[in-house]
Amino acid sequence: MHTLIDIGANLTHDSFDRDRDAVLTRAREAGVARMVVTGASREHSPRALALAQAHPGVLSATAGVHPHHAVEYTDECDAELRALHAHAEVVAVGETGLDYFRDFSPRPAQRKAFERQLQIGVDTGKPLFLHQRDAHADFMAIMRGFDGKLGPAVVHCFTGTREELFDYLDQDWHIGITGWLCDERRGAHLREIVKNIPAHRLMVETDAPYLLPRTLRPMPKERRNEPAFLPHIVEELARDRGEDVTTTAAASAATAAAFFRLPPPAAD
Ligand SMILES: [Zn+2]
Repeated sequence: MHTLIDIGANLTHDSFDRDRDAVLTRAREAGVARMVVTGASREHSPRALALAQAHPGVLSATAGVHPHHAVEYTDECDAELRALHAHAEVVAVGETGLDYFRDFSPRPAQRKAFERQLQIGVDTGKPLFLHQRDAHADFMAIMRGFDGKLGPAVVHCFTGTREELFDYLDQDWHIGITGWLCDERRGAHLREIVKNIPAHRLMVETDAPYLLPRTLRPMPKERRNEPAFLPHIVEELARDRGEDVTTTAAASAATAAAFFRLPPPAAD
């Protein structure tokens, strides 16, 4: 069993309300020693912090507003996020970024909420947990506006092209890989390019309850993803990178611990 860190788990999601403790137990039994709970809205970011506070040493949190929720980014919301970031359990700014695939919030609102959260990153010095979908050019332009002022950044749930990957690596950003890799319909290109990610830039995540790996066997009856399935993603990733799963597991955990400034997990 490998000791892993899941850098993106939406554990405040309603689908975990009835059995959250069992989900955490299964995760730890599967070797997922630490999880970073994604805070992605004004409503759920405080819940992510509360969950992290209830499980010290196991859960940490991010605090942010996902581009889908950008319309809720008011001055009051900004103040609330800043108050959350005063807590040590909140280890990164985000989830924030741009999503032009769904466009649930108007693009100008997305750009404004993104910039305001990057300013929180500047002011707190915390690492950034970023989301980008179908918005690469604007994403790069906004990030460039903060050049030299931000801490380390991870583009979570990377699903983009080879060119986008190299743009991110050129900026020294980190890459989060999910079970998207296991989706033969839309993730096949990832299998070709993940070997280009240096070990010290690569982290792994489930994005639970979303993105249940399609290659998981047996397939759970309810299609909910959970952190206990992270080892499956790491096995697939290691195979695509042409390396031993122990190598991928250990390197991704060490990279995540350094990135989020977590105490390193105990060795296997
Ligand atoms: Zn995302």
